[in-house]
Formats: sequence, C-alpha cells, structure tokens
Amino acid sequence: MKLTLHDTMSGKKLEFQPLNAEKVTMYLCGPTVYNYAHIGNARPAVVFDLLARLLRQQYKLLFVRNITDVDDKINAAAIESGQSIGEITKKFIKAYNIDMAALGVGAPDIEPKATEHIAEMILMIRDLLKKGYAYEQDGHVLFEVSTYEDYGLLSKRNLTEMKLGSRIEIASYKKSAHDFVLWKPSTPDFPGWDSPWGRGRPGWHLECSAMIEKHLGDTIDIHAGGQDLVFPHHENEIAQSTCAHQGKVFSRYWLHNGFLSIDNTKMSKSLGNVSLVRDLLKDYSGEVIRLALLTAHYRQPLEWSEETLIGAKKMLDRIYGSLRDIEVSTKKLNATKVPSPVMSALLNDLNTPMAISEVFNLAKELNKTTDQNQKEAIAAEILIAGRILGLFESDANEWFQNKNTSIQFKQEIESLIVQRDLARSNKDFIKADQIRDKLFAKGVTIEDTPSGVRWHYGSN
Ligand code: AMP
Ligand code: ZN
Repeated sequence: MKLTLHDTMSGKKLEFQPLNAEKVTMYLCGPTVYNYAHIGNARPAVVFDLLARLLRQQYKLLFVRNITDVDDKINAAAIESGQSIGEITKKFIKAYNIDMAALGVGAPDIEPKATEHIAEMILMIRDLLKKGYAYEQDGHVLFEVSTYEDYGLLSKRNLTEMKLGSRIEIASYKKSAHDFVLWKPSTPDFPGWDSPWGRGRPGWHLECSAMIEKHLGDTIDIHAGGQDLVFPHHENEIAQSTCAHQGKVFSRYWLHNGFLSIDNTKMSKSLGNVSLVRDLLKDYSGEVIRLALLTAHYRQPLEWSEETLIGAKKMLDRIYGSLRDIEVSTKKLNATKVPSPVMSALLNDLNTPMAISEVFNLAKELNKTTDQNQKEAIAAEILIAGRILGLFESDANEWFQNKNTSIQFKQEIESLIVQRDLARSNKDFIKADQIRDKLFAKGVTIEDTPSGVRWHYGSN
C-alpha cells in the first residue's frame, strides 16, 4: 500500500516513507482559542484526522495538535469581554473539542498548550541567541532572517526580492523588516513570564517549534496546517527549528489544506463572514458536516453554502437508505477490509471525492443484489470504508428518525445521565468520567447546575 502525499516544500506528490514505521510523527497547528471554531477552522481538523486514521492503518502514529493559548488576539478578547484570559482560553478549548468531536475528529495523541511550554521556549531562544541566529533589542528577542540562507524555500519567496519590494516601516527594535519576534515584553495587565530578557511572552511561531521539539523531536515526518500558515508561520518555524538543530531537516513532508470560502471570499474571523460549527450543528448532524467538508479534495478551494450541506445530507440519506434493514455481524465486520478502490483513492493524496464516489458504487451494487450473504458482504465493506472516512457510524434505521431529537435519542441520553449521577454518588469518578466522555462523543454537552444536570445537543 503506497501512500502518496503532496508536499508543499518540493511542490510534488511524493511517496510517503516514514523515518520509523514504529513511530510516525505528525504535527498539526491547532486553534488559537479566543472564539468559537468556524467551519473553515474545522477543515484542517477533519482532513488531517482522516490522514491520521489512514496512517494508523499501516503505522504506529504519534499525532500532536497544539493549542495556542497565549496570543494578542486572546488578550484583546479578554479585554473586550471582561473575562480573564484563563476563563477565555478554558471556555474555547472546551468548545473546540466538543465541536470537533461532533464532526468525528478523534483526539490527538497529545494536545500541548503553549502556556505549559514556556521553559522550553526560553531554552530555544537562548540557544538561537548563543548560535548567532537571534538578537536582543529593547526587551524583544528577534530571529535574524538573513542568518538563515534557506529562508523562503517553503513559500517560494526570495528574501532579496522581498527586501527590494518592501516599503514597510521597520519597528525600532528590528534590524530588518523580515526579522520576527521570538520574545516580546509584556505589560503588567498582559500574560507574561520571567525570562533573561525581562517579563514577557513568546512569539507565536516559536510556540510550535518548541512544542514539536519537546513532543516529537528534531525531525518529524509530517507537518500540516491550513494554506494561510505557509507564510510566515511555517517558514518561521522552519528557520527557528533548523537553526536550533544544526541544520537537521525539520519536517520531511509539508501538507496544507486549501481555503474554505463563502461567496468566493476566504472564511475568516477577521472578515466576520463565518459560519460557526456549533451553529451548523443545530441544523445538521456532525456526520453531514464532515461529509460536506470531505466532498472536495483537501488541497482544492471549497466554496461553502447551504447547498453543500443539503447535498451532503442527501448523499448520506442514499447511503443509509441502502444500508437499512441489513444486519451485519461483528464477525463479518471484523473480517472485512477497506475495499481497495476506496483505499487506493485515499492513498492517492487523500482523494476523498473519488473515495466517496467509490462508496456510492458499492451502495448501487448493494441496492441491486438480492442475495442476503452478498448484501451483508457489501454493507460490511461500506461500513469499514466509513470507519476510515469517519462516516456511516449511525444506525441506518435511526438515521431516518432525525436522531438528534428523536425520542429514543433523548431517552438514551437521559439514561446515561442517570447512570453518571449514580456513579458519582457512589464516588466512582472514573466511571462517571467515562459516561461523560460517551455523551461528549455523541455531541452532547452536559452542565451541572444546582437544580441538577442539564444537557443539550452541540457545544456550549
Ligand atoms: P486559527 O485558529 O485562526 O489559527 O486557525 C486554525 C486553523 O484553521 C489553521 O490551520 C488555519 O490555516 C485554518 N483555517 C482558518 N481559516 C480557514 C479557511 N477559511 N479555510 C481553511 N482553513 C482555514
Ligand atoms: Zn504552528
């Protein structure tokens, strides 16, 4: 099974060959937690969750997706809302994880927070200073871009041309406009940590370099993120890590997803043209939203509209329609492999539109056949393909009963809440947490209030 992936650095589709099949390492730049996730933010989470599922078929994977919980945008959100920075980040980390779980995104193996890696960041800055790649000025420490000759290789930018073209006013503490912040001073009202350069906070790019070094090592197999991160974020991560690690390759494959747009404009918090995942979940199941995201190839732009969701809902209706009333035994399921046309499509740089169309071919075959054994075999193939795509995990009969609000669904949730209460009153907190996780996986948020437990579908 040959996996090919499009690598931004070489601009080519390459065969994926890990450094060590027993420990494939992948890092995805995670959210900056100051707002609810919009559907554009969900695209990398879903796409690279699919890649993680695919890699886990063949390799042992260590997948890290970080949380950026120190950032100027978070500080601004705290001032605007009157909440503390800790309250803001806690609230939006929880909301992000609930929303992503509802879209079938598995938790990463490690989810490091930037604020818990300040010591590692300070060490990396000291090292870069010692080696002559950085300089200190007015409480700031900056990476001196001209000291790294391969700067610009990922984003295909030429530093000399950039210099000639740039008319940006240079901040007083910078030698060159392209130098970027590793550390900057903090005023008493902002988060800050003591450092050799005074009380301050890290630059965003440095956060990822330090967390990668700590959890995955100097050279990783795959680094992923949205296309907007190629420059400057990933270019700067490469400069820092490569210079800190004696020129060792930082990431062997670079993967970037294309933009999700609305009316041909990139969806973005700053433009305000966002559709929040938590709002979409009020009208569509997580599975519909996930399929809608996967209908386009991850590198292509995806124009988002109500039609995208309606189309995905119809597709799932067709698949569940063909699976209805067919019993697939666990034994059969366990003995079934991902059908090779689906697998080949996914192995070809995650060609999800092709993989989904192959699932439709199976559904057509299933509708035609009258032989019960054959029906069970094809249904098993669809379900197994679904495990890797993160789809078709609902009960086919329940699907048509509007599961989210169906009486059975409500009863199931209420019963789990009663069991959790019981576990808590028996001081069996492990079991209580397991039940809470089960509710979480079903997209349900619970709230412990003085008058008892309240729940609702979707994130808080
Ligand atoms: P942020 O929280 O803004 O740092 O973004 C988190 C992730 O979402 C990053 O990988 C971004 O590249 C990605 N992202 C943000 N907006 C979009 C969009 N409109 N389409 C696709 N990916 C996006
Ligand atoms: Zn990053």
